Amino acid sequence: MTRIAFIGLGHMGGPMAANLVKAGHEVVGFDLSHEVMKTAEEAGVKPANVLTEALAGAEIVITMLRKGSQVLTVWSDIIRSPAKDTLLIDCSTIDVDSARKAHAMAKQAGCLSLDAPVSGGTGGAAAATLTFMVGGSEESFARASPLFQAMGKKIVHCGDGGTGQAAKICNNMILGISMIGVCEAFVLGEKLGLSHQALFDVASTSSGQCWSINSYCPVPGPVPASPANNSFKPGFAGELMLKDLNLSQEAGLSVGATTPLGAAAAQLFAMFEKQGNGARDFSAIIEMFRERI
Ligand code: NAD
Repeated sequence: MTRIAFIGLGHMGGPMAANLVKAGHEVVGFDLSHEVMKTAEEAGVKPANVLTEALAGAEIVITMLRKGSQVLTVWSDIIRSPAKDTLLIDCSTIDVDSARKAHAMAKQAGCLSLDAPVSGGTGGAAAATLTFMVGGSEESFARASPLFQAMGKKIVHCGDGGTGQAAKICNNMILGISMIGVCEAFVLGEKLGLSHQALFDVASTSSGQCWSINSYCPVPGPVPASPANNSFKPGFAGELMLKDLNLSQEAGLSVGATTPLGAAAAQLFAMFEKQGNGARDFSAIIEMFRERI
């Protein structure tokens, strides 16, 4: 049994902390929202009134927050008086620069650290089937592995600090671009008189196949579980896709990488969000291509 402090018990953090409790760990949680604290408490997480209360005696501290600035603020509080050998793990999706800053802060304080963003959404968090993309030392990775296994199914050690976040935004840039490509093709097919099922049957078994068609088809029918069959209820919200595409563009700028399709995808998802679609599934962007844009 490990004594874990879990900071950030929202849509993802709450069910992840609950799975650590189910695996037999002692989890003390802290969140600024009383509402999510209450839900976590019902799942067996011990509530802390303040951050320092959650940290007392913690061998491992996990953060699951929205953005880089929040992670740096919370980590700077954590490293003020860390217990000996504390391992800090950030599972949020944040910019690579902030992730590297967080690792440097932890190292200076004598703590081990990992960046470990996830994919799999709220469903994966609840079912403990998340994929973890992990950056940091072998020693830290080995120590955290049993916890990742309690919360996820696929765990990849990507390399040094920051490479987990790098893998996450590269993957999601591919996803944003491929979904737009699939949506464009289905709308072109509609205008050419091709049925959705016929295009699916061809493309899902030919060189056009990809996750955006085969598992998440943006039209109702061919893949019954895709959000297109459920009024585009997320799934993966458009605003989160935009966030990850913007992170990919910031990262591209900082290292001089050329990502013209990533940039175009970020612009198109920004337009999609501006039209009031941020809370809908990202595959609803197909509707934008049915109009002249
Ligand atoms: P969320 O907003 O539901 O949860 C974040 C929680 O952090 C909130 O409950 C908030 O009150 C808390 N918080 C903020 N500042 C705090 C502080 N200083 N101290 C304590 N608590 C604080 O967000 P989420 O959907 O759980 O996402 C978390 C991260 O996971 C994000 O980076 C997101 O991009 C990533 N992610 C989300 C999904 C998804 O489907 N929701 C999927 C993969 C990755």
